[in-house]
Amino acid sequence: MASSDKRIMSGMRPTGRLHLGHYFGALSNWVRFQSQYDSYFSIVDWHALTTKFQNTREVQGHIWEIALDWLCVGIDPDAATVYVQSAVPEIAELHLLMSMLTPHNWVEREPTLKDMVKMLDSDESAAKEKITYGLLGYPVLMTADILTFKGQLIPVGKDQESHLEFARDVCRRFNKLYDVDYFPEPKPEFTETPLLKGIDGQKMGKSFNNDIKIADTESDTEKKVKQMITDRTRLAKSDPGHTDLCEIPWPMYKVFAKDRPDYLAQVKNECETPLIGCVDCKKRLAGEVNDFFRPFREKRELLAADPDRVRKIIEHGNSKARKVAKQTLSEVRDIMGMVDWNKD
Ligand code: SF4
Repeated sequence: MASSDKRIMSGMRPTGRLHLGHYFGALSNWVRFQSQYDSYFSIVDWHALTTKFQNTREVQGHIWEIALDWLCVGIDPDAATVYVQSAVPEIAELHLLMSMLTPHNWVEREPTLKDMVKMLDSDESAAKEKITYGLLGYPVLMTADILTFKGQLIPVGKDQESHLEFARDVCRRFNKLYDVDYFPEPKPEFTETPLLKGIDGQKMGKSFNNDIKIADTESDTEKKVKQMITDRTRLAKSDPGHTDLCEIPWPMYKVFAKDRPDYLAQVKNECETPLIGCVDCKKRLAGEVNDFFRPFREKRELLAADPDRVRKIIEHGNSKARKVAKQTLSEVRDIMGMVDWNKD
């Protein structure tokens, strides 16, 4: 039972199995939120199609993987509504209605569109060809995701507040145009997002092949941790290490052992004295990662072996979400003075 009746809404694109960054940056917060707020967590497959329109079948497979990742880390379908975006067609209808009242320059000014263009292709003109009507409109779809469920709180990192501004602008415009106080303005629920780099020192990402996945095996995890860049100035085991120059393992220790200051002080001391070499230090870190994720991975295996159970969980969430969405759309049509031709 949530301790507040405020509604929180968030989603993830199904583009592959999730990694440590997703867990510490989002999912660990969602697990906390589900006991605090009326929580709606969406697998936003239409958003995945904005860039993966040539691989639609792949996206469907990823929905399954994401559901397993969410459930194994503790997203509780009895505490939160877990659903697939495309199972709720009312979101698409609201997206359409909102697109009618959204000025086109609001969409074009979105700073994240420029980042997406770069991500699509390093060649700018080739990338531009991949900007579809759907991709350009993704902020409107994101707004519809939130407004369909009248989301009041949206988890964002401090640096992502602007992403929410668009939805707030559209929400205000709707309320003003139709002279109502219908949609609540979504507000940010700030979350801490620890910066976890990939094993190569670049941003950790599913598509960069540098991530440690929640679903990785223990030996895969060990192999990946072994490849992590450490302190580049430390050439031999007998050289003292510098935790402040250690690129990946030390920041990762700080995430995994954030509640164990004495242990962190011990790791730092052993590194800088030096009582330990980077090879052994990384072996120990791999053990930390594996110990932390072992219960999740075990649960994931059990869930993966019981597809009927997972399917039922998703279908139950879809039907809960759809009930709310139908109500919203019926009210929105009313406000806009549109006849509901399908009304029973
Ligand atoms: S000993 Fe550990 S913390 Fe120190 S530089 Fe090497 S990997 Fe990093």
